[in-house]
Amino acid sequence: MDLYEHQARELFAEHGIVVPRAEVTDSPARAREIARALGGRAVVKAQVKTGGRGKAGGVRLAADPAAAEEASRHILGMDIKGHRVEAVMLAEPVDIQQEFYVSYVLDRAAGGFLAVASAEGGTEIEEVAAERPEAVVRVPVDPAAGLTTATAVRIADAAGLPPQSVDVLVRLWQVLVREDALLVEVNPLVRTVDGRIVALDGKVTLDDNAHFRQTRWGERHATAADPLEARAAAKGLNYVKLDGEVGVIGNGAGLVMSTLDVVAGCGARPANFLDIGGGASARVMADGLSVVLSDPAVKSVLVNVFGGITACDAVADGIVRALDEVRPTKPIVVRLDGNSAARGRALLDARAHPLVEQATTMDGAASRAARHATAAPTAG
Ligand code: GDP
Ligand code: MN
Repeated sequence: MDLYEHQARELFAEHGIVVPRAEVTDSPARAREIARALGGRAVVKAQVKTGGRGKAGGVRLAADPAAAEEASRHILGMDIKGHRVEAVMLAEPVDIQQEFYVSYVLDRAAGGFLAVASAEGGTEIEEVAAERPEAVVRVPVDPAAGLTTATAVRIADAAGLPPQSVDVLVRLWQVLVREDALLVEVNPLVRTVDGRIVALDGKVTLDDNAHFRQTRWGERHATAADPLEARAAAKGLNYVKLDGEVGVIGNGAGLVMSTLDVVAGCGARPANFLDIGGGASARVMADGLSVVLSDPAVKSVLVNVFGGITACDAVADGIVRALDEVRPTKPIVVRLDGNSAARGRALLDARAHPLVEQATTMDGAASRAARHATAAPTAG
């Protein structure tokens, strides 16, 4: 789950990172009062979970409380990259001498974290990395060992950050660890004209798997980035959107993971991960199939179920129900094995839907689904 800038700012402050004085509101009239309390001038900032707010007109410097009210009125309700602005943060402006970039991000492939730092902050780091890769420093951080002061010094040195930012690097690592974050980013971290190091913007992505012990920010699925993921979450489904074209549904995370691999091995790409779990009911199957089929990228669906606690006839019943509810236009390949497989297969045979075919093995099913997805689009 991503946090809003004002939430990230709060975490930074709690961990001793210097941030500007600021307050959040959804009312322009209140914005005027906040600006007055901040000393008159204020930076008015859209609170949306996307970057590039500055470029989109969502960050404005107001010279006095009346201007802060006017800027808030303008920014509230704005659409920034598909995100509606529901609140603004008013911050005490700082006089910037130089902007830097620092972050820690999970590097799944390496099984660790990566510190990323640059003396060219302010713009999106991807742009800096594309144009001047030598200006972006990357240092692996072993999560078990943690970030030592020596490593922080090395990062600051290599990136050309001022010496005072070593302390920020250490504290930012503490934010990551204590808050169970997958990403913490400060862009820009600035040196002010009067020599202070201040975090002017913050992005924090929390690890949803730690939600049980990080409950202060509320419901984790309330803001799922992907609309299909949000829909699936609302139905209590364990769904992750991927880039490919073969929709995958299975029971048990392990079986679904291997199904993704087998699909990839057949030269196609999985469109999603969907585990309907052990003991899945017909209802869950119908919900799952309806979510997967509503993904426009999906060209075929592979249902791979090994019945243990889940009985295959319940799964087949769910598929039959879903066929009536969602009226699929894409081929569905079903492999049922294990508990009540014969009864499940018989149910599907009896329904005799023209777009549903059955396979007896996982490999066979995957290769059929892959062929459907990579062949020319089928009629219907
Ligand atoms: P983003 O565009 O969504 O990344 O929003 P930021 O919070 O990073 O703000 C964009 C830019 O606005 C920053 O890179 C700064 O250059 C500028 N900015 C933000 N706050 C201040 C401030 O207090 N003083 C000044 N001078 N510039 C600011
Ligand atoms: Mn920024």
